[in-house]
Amino acid sequence: MSLFPQSEDDWIARIEARLPVQGRSRSGGGRLVLGIGDDAAIYRPAPGEDLVFTTDMMHEGRHFLQHHPAFEIGWKAICRGLSDIAAMGARPEFTLLSLAAGPWVTPEWIDAFYDGFLALAAHFKTPLAGGDLGRAAHTAIDVVVAGSVPKGEALRRDTAKPDDLIYVSGRLGGGALGLREPSNALALDRFLSPEPRIHLGVALRRRKLASAAMDLSDGLSSDLSRLARASGVAAHIRRPLPVFPGASEADALHGGDDYELLFAVPPSVRVPNCLAGQLLHCVGKLVVGEPGRLLFEGEPLLPAGWDHFSR
Ligand SMILES: [Mg+2]
Repeated sequence: MSLFPQSEDDWIARIEARLPVQGRSRSGGGRLVLGIGDDAAIYRPAPGEDLVFTTDMMHEGRHFLQHHPAFEIGWKAICRGLSDIAAMGARPEFTLLSLAAGPWVTPEWIDAFYDGFLALAAHFKTPLAGGDLGRAAHTAIDVVVAGSVPKGEALRRDTAKPDDLIYVSGRLGGGALGLREPSNALALDRFLSPEPRIHLGVALRRRKLASAAMDLSDGLSSDLSRLARASGVAAHIRRPLPVFPGASEADALHGGDDYELLFAVPPSVRVPNCLAGQLLHCVGKLVVGEPGRLLFEGEPLLPAGWDHFSR
């Protein structure tokens, strides 16, 4: 086991050594004018674009466990932010990462964690522009992802209308199944290494298919209720739901950690079965009613997905 680096400079050098070559340059090209290594990063926005920002925390014991592989924890840490950027129909531009390392965290764990984080960042050409790293009583991770979108075109959750159809991408409940049954390799992979739907979000925006969108991080019942409440409408969901292989209908309705997209579509718009490589399923419609209220097959459905303040 290698020694824990003693100084902040040692840490920055260790992290910089893991960055892709172009990301290490002080003037990395693109709109990130100045990356890691100075007091702050510099990003130069293109004319006519809006910047979108999201920040997400992950806590040991709540979002991940010590025995989960460090590479996948890093991957998931940035996936959550990228998924929020996807839900806005935006492209990711850069990311900031802060890690509070608990007493059990080794330098090898941190290396693998950064490797997982940077692997998904590189896939979506999202440079790490800065961050912080220190020791703490519990391991916690905070990730900021910034994205860009043509001015005024971001997909929002408060712009759906009554009679819009409700669509989801992919199959739901795999994240919940993987957490419950880690012996199911396909579901465990979905739980540990989800894929943010960046290309789908951009395609929905460009083709003007969606009247509103968000990502499914906490479960369909909770997230759809939020979208409906924000838009001032109620929602009816019906069978069949696109259920992940081996998962239950309850997993698909209430399970978190799927990172698919949920979006509303005006009734006059035709939606393809597949877009940007993702299957799209209509699961219901929005209606005039108490904002955020859900019916499933005609019966009231309470949001029962992940809520940090109730568990
Ligand atoms: Mg979200």
